[in-house]
Amino acid sequence: MHDMDYEQERLRQLHDLQILDTPAEASFDRLTALVADLLEVPIVLVSLADQDRQWFKSRVGLAVSQTPRRGSFCQYALIEGRLLLVEDTQRDPRFANHPLVNGAPHLRCYAGVPLSIDGTHLLGTLCVLDLKPRRFTARQLEHLQTLALQVEELLRLHARSLELDRESRRSRKRAARYEAIFHGAAAGIVRIDSSGRIVEINDFALQLLGYHREEVLGSNVSRLMPSHWARFHDRYLKNHLEDGSDQIVGKGRRVEALHRNGQRIPVHLAVSHAPYDEQGGRGDFIGILSDLSEIHETAHRLHKQQQLLSVLHRGLTDYRALLSGNTLWTFLKHALRELTGSDYALIGEVLHTEGSPALKIHALSDLSWNAESQQLMSQLRSGGMLLRNPDSLLGQVFVGGQTILCNDLASHPQHRLPPGHPPLRNYLGVPIVDQGEVLGMFAIANSAEPYREALVTWLEPFTSTCALLIKLYRQLKERAAFTEQLRQTRDEAEAASRAKSEFLSAMSHELRTPLNAILGFAQLLQCSQRHPLDERQRRQIEQIEKSGQHLLNLINEVLDLARIEAGKLNLNPEAVNLAELVREACETLTPIAHQHGVTLQHTGLEHFAVTLWADPTRLRQVLINLLSNAIKYNRPQGSVQIDAQQLGGCVHVSVRDTGIGIAAEDMPRLFQPFSRLETGNAAIEGTGVGLVLTRQILEQMGGRIGVTSRPGLGSEFWFKLPLGDTLRIPSSCTQPLCTRQARCKESCP
Ligand code: ADP
Repeated sequence: MHDMDYEQERLRQLHDLQILDTPAEASFDRLTALVADLLEVPIVLVSLADQDRQWFKSRVGLAVSQTPRRGSFCQYALIEGRLLLVEDTQRDPRFANHPLVNGAPHLRCYAGVPLSIDGTHLLGTLCVLDLKPRRFTARQLEHLQTLALQVEELLRLHARSLELDRESRRSRKRAARYEAIFHGAAAGIVRIDSSGRIVEINDFALQLLGYHREEVLGSNVSRLMPSHWARFHDRYLKNHLEDGSDQIVGKGRRVEALHRNGQRIPVHLAVSHAPYDEQGGRGDFIGILSDLSEIHETAHRLHKQQQLLSVLHRGLTDYRALLSGNTLWTFLKHALRELTGSDYALIGEVLHTEGSPALKIHALSDLSWNAESQQLMSQLRSGGMLLRNPDSLLGQVFVGGQTILCNDLASHPQHRLPPGHPPLRNYLGVPIVDQGEVLGMFAIANSAEPYREALVTWLEPFTSTCALLIKLYRQLKERAAFTEQLRQTRDEAEAASRAKSEFLSAMSHELRTPLNAILGFAQLLQCSQRHPLDERQRRQIEQIEKSGQHLLNLINEVLDLARIEAGKLNLNPEAVNLAELVREACETLTPIAHQHGVTLQHTGLEHFAVTLWADPTRLRQVLINLLSNAIKYNRPQGSVQIDAQQLGGCVHVSVRDTGIGIAAEDMPRLFQPFSRLETGNAAIEGTGVGLVLTRQILEQMGGRIGVTSRPGLGSEFWFKLPLGDTLRIPSSCTQPLCTRQARCKESCP
């Protein structure tokens, strides 16, 4: 080996021994003392050759612990590689001039045996020194060499103990690391022996299952499982050990662990078998438990969230159906109980009656315990009873607008229940607020879990949906009340109108009898031969008769109008020959036309040769009315022209005059009862009822009436009626009028 490499390796070995500068050790000191004794020398050293110094692990007869390496006796022994014996230093040229020989302490003799732990590299010497020249016996030198071997053994022991130290440090570190993993793991770790007894359990598992270590160590692991699973556990282990069947071992699966308090905890369990142990037993099983509560909790929360959403969705989309079926609030109350896991729930609306807020219950869980309380509940549900006490647990919510959350009702000052009332453990009352106004409230009680603030936040969408629904509910109620009011007003108006018509009808009837008598007597007086009237009396009687006639016309028309309004105008429709009716009407009115100096013309009766489906009396009334108006409101030498034309399934009849005409602004008043236009007709006799009647009659027969006019030039009144069909419709049939009306409306523009 190269010198350099040798020296490096030698120094590495020496340094690895970690012996330099260590305190004295009895084992070395006992050896040097023995050497001093056996060789009878004053100085004995265990010298180790460091890079620049020689350091003495053990020394006898020397005060210093180290000397420089260069020029040392030992250096020569190391070069020699075996026992170096210098019996008289002054006679050895290598040492004769050595300062420790020439000067104090005047060393005269040296014997050194090199020391090595691997047989190759020499780390130092076991050497003796004397102040006088010596001649050692062969036995003494043998002792020295034997004891040098002992020193080497001590050095090796030292190396081994160092190694052991290191190893034990390493294994302590490993153990600590294992402990840290075992106890610090975010999973439960349970080690059991082959019979299922718990050998080791980590902190996580203890905390998860609520035990102290000493409670479970040594007991069967099945106590940590719910009974239905524990029953099979030992059998599974046994099967696995006997035939390797693996119902549980080597698999991960979701199971339930049992908490000390009896609660079941969802966990993932992976079991593995460590087959051999140091005692040559059947090995242990290691179970690793991961807590799935949070995952379960999240899944549960998601499920709840979904439930809440579907409740809100249904509440909002189906609210009309739910309201009309009176099930909206019951539905919401039920949903509230389900969502919060509560035994009881209530939803109510705040009403402001008698000047203070009162709660009207919309939906309420049954809390009754006897007949009396049952009655109370149904009174509350029906709205027959309102809650008012502002100091009660409910009152603080619906009057005070506060959220009340209490998980220990027994100690709540406001909690007072009548004897027999089912016990209430916990309570949550939440106001339903909209823009600062408390619209209502909901309350829940007796949930398995304590109520928390977070629940109130979570329920916010529910609360605001309730607010929305209460507002909708109110609007619907208001609208229903308004509709009802309208219906009542309409019924009242109809009743008043009927009463008016009946009164008019009765009045007209009562008036006609005496009026007929007046007219009869007036005519008698006019025709009396025995007492002829003078000119003045004749004019007066004529006036009586004329006025009476006018009154009679008026009464008849009013009676007709009243009948129409009361729906009592009986029409007897039949196939009517229009030509016949026009001829009759013209005949009737020709004398009057003459009186007014008006010509009455028609385009020839052949044009009227159509059959209409109408009441003949009433149709005659229509014709006479329009024709007499055309005569009355005409000018002298004027004319009246009546025409007919067939259009689709209708006949269109027009009466044209050359009279005063009607101003556009008067048109809207034309068909109003008792409405007579002022323009130039003050002197013309009339009642203002004729046109109204005409229109009503025509419309009831399925027809229509219209007018066009040019003031000063004349007017044209026209009407349309459905054509009759004598072949297909028997005259006895009372129904076809409707069919006719429909046909006329369809075919007449
Ligand atoms: P009356 O003729 O008895 O007053 P009507 O109901 O028949 O009642 O007519 C109502 C009003 O319509 C008449 O007072 C008159 O002012 C106006 N009127 C009706 N027909 C004509 C017409 N052909 N030309 C001008 N004005 C008319």
